[in-house]
Amino acid sequence: MTLAQLGKLTSTSLLCLLSAACGGYEGPVEGDRAFEKVEKLVSFGPRPAGSSALRSAASYIESEIKSLGLPARFQDFEDPEQAPGVKFRNIWTEIPGKDPTAGPIILIGAHYDTKLAAGHSDPAHNFPFVGAIDGGGASGLLLELARVLRDRPNPIANLWLVWFDGEESIDWEWNDDRSLFGSRYFVRTMSADKILFPSNLGKRMRAMILMDLIGDRRIKLDRDGNSNKQLQDLFLEAAEKIGAQNKMYRFKSAFSDDHIPFRNAGVRVIDLIDFQYRTPSSRSPDEPSDIARYVAWWHTAEDSLDKISPDSLEFVGDLVWTAIPMIEKDL
Ligand SMILES: [Zn+2]
Repeated sequence: MTLAQLGKLTSTSLLCLLSAACGGYEGPVEGDRAFEKVEKLVSFGPRPAGSSALRSAASYIESEIKSLGLPARFQDFEDPEQAPGVKFRNIWTEIPGKDPTAGPIILIGAHYDTKLAAGHSDPAHNFPFVGAIDGGGASGLLLELARVLRDRPNPIANLWLVWFDGEESIDWEWNDDRSLFGSRYFVRTMSADKILFPSNLGKRMRAMILMDLIGDRRIKLDRDGNSNKQLQDLFLEAAEKIGAQNKMYRFKSAFSDDHIPFRNAGVRVIDLIDFQYRTPSSRSPDEPSDIARYVAWWHTAEDSLDKISPDSLEFVGDLVWTAIPMIEKDL
C-alpha cells in the first residue's frame, strides 16, 4: 500500500487495519457499505415528506432494491385533511421464507423522510436539515440489510423491508395527527387485506423491528417503554452473542414512532432507537454522570454525516441479522 492509498482510507478502515477487532461484530453486515448508502441519501439534501429530494431518495432506494434482484413495491397516498398537497410514498420489498403465501412475516422498517425545517413560524426551526442520523442512518442500513438478508441460509419467515414516508411531524412540535403517515397507512391497508392477512395483522406478522436514529458514533440503543419486553430481552441476548451488550439499554424512554400503529394492530414490536439524551430538555437531575458524552444533535443542523460511524451501522445491522433466526425459533 502506498502512502497515497493510505491517505484515501477512511479512519474506520484504517482502524480496521490496525486492529484485530475489524468488522467488530459477528455477522455479514458491512458498515462501510451501509455508510455509502447513508451518504447517498444525505446527498439529496433535506428530504421532508412531499419534497422532490425525497422522491429522488425513493428512486434511489428503488434502484438499489432492484439491483439486488428483489421486487420493489410502492404505496402512493395522500392525506388531504392533515397534509394537504403532500404526496407520500412507502417503499418495500419482500424476501421470501419457507411459505411466501401464508407463512409468518417479520417486518423490518425505517423512515426515510427527514424533519421539515422550513416555513415554521419560529425562525429557529428553519435551517438546512439533512437528517444523517434521523432519516438517513436506518434507511441506508436497511439497504445493506436487504443485501445480506436476501442470501441468508434456511429462511423460515418472510421478511418485509419497509421504508416509511412521513414519520416526522409536519409541525415542529410533535403532533399525533400529522405524523407517522406512512406506518399508519401501511397498517390500515394491510389490516384490510383479507387475502394476505385473513385474521388480525399480528397473527401472521410475528414481529416488527423498527430502526430509527441509527449510526451515531457513540450509539447506545434505548429501552423503549412502548416495545415488547420479550423482544427486547431477545435483542439483548442477540447483542451478547455479537459482543455488543454494552451498547444496549443504557437509557430508558418511551417513543411515538412508526412501531406504534403496528403495536396497536396486535403486532409484537421493538424500536431500536438511540434517542435519550440527544435533546437538552430531556436531561434531568438524576441523569448519569457521563451524560456530557452524549451530544445533542437531534433535530438540529448538527445531525450531519460526520456524526455517523460505519461501525455503529454495522453493530445494528449485525444485531438485527442475529436476532431474526432467534425470533424464528419460536414462530
Ligand atoms: Zn426526527
